[in-house]
Amino acid sequence: MVVLGKDDAVELVRRNPSCPGPTHSQTSDPVALVQELIQKALGANASDVHLDPGPESWDVRFRVDGILRPEGSFSSRLGPNVVARLKVLAELLTYRTDIPQEGRLELGGMKGSGMEGRLSTFPTLHGEKVAIRFFGREATRLGLDHLGLEMETLHRLKGLLAGRQGAVLLTGPGGSGKTTTLYAALESIRETHKNGIHIFTIEDPIERPIAGITQSQAKPGSDFDFARGLRSLLRQDPEVVMVGEIRDGQTASIAMEAALTGHLLLSTVHAGSACGVFSRLLDMGVEPYALTSGIRGVLNQRLVRKSCATCRGIGCLACQQSGFSGRLLLAELVEVKGPLRKAILARADLDGLIDAAREMNQPHGGASGESQLWETGLRAVARGETTHEELTRSLGPKPGQGALSPKSIHPIPKSQLDGENRA
Ligand SMILES: [Zn+2]
Repeated sequence: MVVLGKDDAVELVRRNPSCPGPTHSQTSDPVALVQELIQKALGANASDVHLDPGPESWDVRFRVDGILRPEGSFSSRLGPNVVARLKVLAELLTYRTDIPQEGRLELGGMKGSGMEGRLSTFPTLHGEKVAIRFFGREATRLGLDHLGLEMETLHRLKGLLAGRQGAVLLTGPGGSGKTTTLYAALESIRETHKNGIHIFTIEDPIERPIAGITQSQAKPGSDFDFARGLRSLLRQDPEVVMVGEIRDGQTASIAMEAALTGHLLLSTVHAGSACGVFSRLLDMGVEPYALTSGIRGVLNQRLVRKSCATCRGIGCLACQQSGFSGRLLLAELVEVKGPLRKAILARADLDGLIDAAREMNQPHGGASGESQLWETGLRAVARGETTHEELTRSLGPKPGQGALSPKSIHPIPKSQLDGENRA
């Protein structure tokens, strides 16, 4: 797949299913190479492009459906010129190779216009490492009904979004599709209010424009960060507010204030689980009563690869022999009520919060956090939508397997100890 061409020439193999068979191209012109790289990445439906400097050659890798895969390499002699060309496109400082920089990549005129790229450069031992992330693909245009949420979760989420105040928060690692869900939620809110509703966002970055919604771009580290932007925005009389991320105490307290004063607030918080969001916000100094009165629910989500519908996972041309095509959303939705409300008010630690959420979820098997994501995933496996191995890759080992933790031991109801349920 990867061949270093003669001299400085480059050979990249195109593996786009719509364009079967390898097509080779050779160029030693950085301008043409950058153009070609971006075209190939967009054609392959990549979400990210990585250029990794090495002593002799630079590796090219694409992230497709969440998986990083090698895509080729080019001579290290070309590296600095490729980076310089990308920096010109992103209006970065070409003469500064000693500091990390980031900027917006102009993709105008290229395939998939309407999309945006974000360029990040980082000085490393053998040169500046490049990462490009693409925004605005079709995948981020999915409606709430088409995200792949289970009916019960979808129904409850819609119920939360129908409220006129309180916060609905999302969590999940980077690349777990939080922005797609947020955008789908905003569009769903806009559509259900036919008479119009004032929806305002502060984002970094704005991944795509949405009709009927006022979007603004925050600049962290400037006078227009999330906290200051949010405070001013509340004077603009919004009814629904979306803040890209709550990552500091100041933003958290203004966001909770907004949620408690007649605004529906959507945002993301970085945490490992739904309950982790409450812990994180308590750590940021938010008062427990503000959490229990302000937060309506937390959605914890992950993306797993979907089994290819054409070959049913065996491997075919359409899925490039991977057996997977597209992605499936697994989610855990935790609402603030009952035992969880009490645990938050008592400032319980993360284990205490998870126990409370599990107690609340008792009718559905008493799972919470990772184990609930696993249960959702196993139902998808049963429907033939993904595989057990893929769940392990994305979610880690199934909780309760391997080392026994006290949390994985549940008393077995007496009714199941005798009678036909024993098997
Ligand atoms: Zn296939």
